Amino acid sequence: MRNKPIIALDAGHGMQTPGKRCLKAIDPAETREWALNDRIADQVQGLLTAYDCTVIRVDDTTGGKDVALSARVKAANNVKADMYISIHHNAGIGGGIGGGTVVYYCSSKDERRVQAMHLYDSVTARTGLFGNRSSKVIKYGWYVVKHTTMPAFLIENGFMDSLTDVPIILSATHATRTAQGIVDFLAAELCLSFAQEDSQRPQTGGSTVIGGNHPMDTYYPAYTGPKTTLSAAMTALGINASYAHRKLIAKANNITVYIGTATQNTRMYNLLVAGFLLKE
Ligand SMILES: [Zn+2]
Repeated sequence: MRNKPIIALDAGHGMQTPGKRCLKAIDPAETREWALNDRIADQVQGLLTAYDCTVIRVDDTTGGKDVALSARVKAANNVKADMYISIHHNAGIGGGIGGGTVVYYCSSKDERRVQAMHLYDSVTARTGLFGNRSSKVIKYGWYVVKHTTMPAFLIENGFMDSLTDVPIILSATHATRTAQGIVDFLAAELCLSFAQEDSQRPQTGGSTVIGGNHPMDTYYPAYTGPKTTLSAAMTALGINASYAHRKLIAKANNITVYIGTATQNTRMYNLLVAGFLLKE
């Protein structure tokens, strides 16, 4: 391997790709999959500036265009990238619970399956969003993993139609943790060395902010007790659970018109359990 590895990053789809969005019943904003994919890809790119490597994005980083899969593959193959990571979010839970993370690869080499497992482990070690499907890693011929000439992986970071996954995948902290997990994997697999201090190095280009970027200490501690109501969980943590206070917290978490519906409370409860409920 050359001493400056090339990493191809692919945020799946485009902003307006039909159907690729969060389920409206769970996320009234119907956050687009590309926006979630792009937020992670941006952060991976930003974190990788600390390492001696070259990163190319094979999607349209404005989200305006859903770049054809063949063009994405061609871009990565042309520069002879050393690794290809395609970032996606899943669907197929139909408003139910569960889902989690899945990593796809397409090669009969044992090494590739081991790498896919390593990517899954690296990301879930950071995020805690473990998959509850039959397999954590799946061999499948998705176009970008099948037709790229380098080791390629497609990671599905939780389900956009899962009651439990959506509040987590919408949070900025989850995106950051996912990006860190992907970079942990890349640094280990490609034996990346730290870059020399150089102020000329490009910084991450304006990462997409969904629901605001907040430092870690602006979250309430995770509720780890037995399953209960939002108010009871808040009270157990010593948080004022009055309606007025819940309304303020809801606003901080992008629930703009909080009227205390079961869906709104479930969303806030799930955030609290995940440790991603933003303080007001
Ligand atoms: Zn996708």
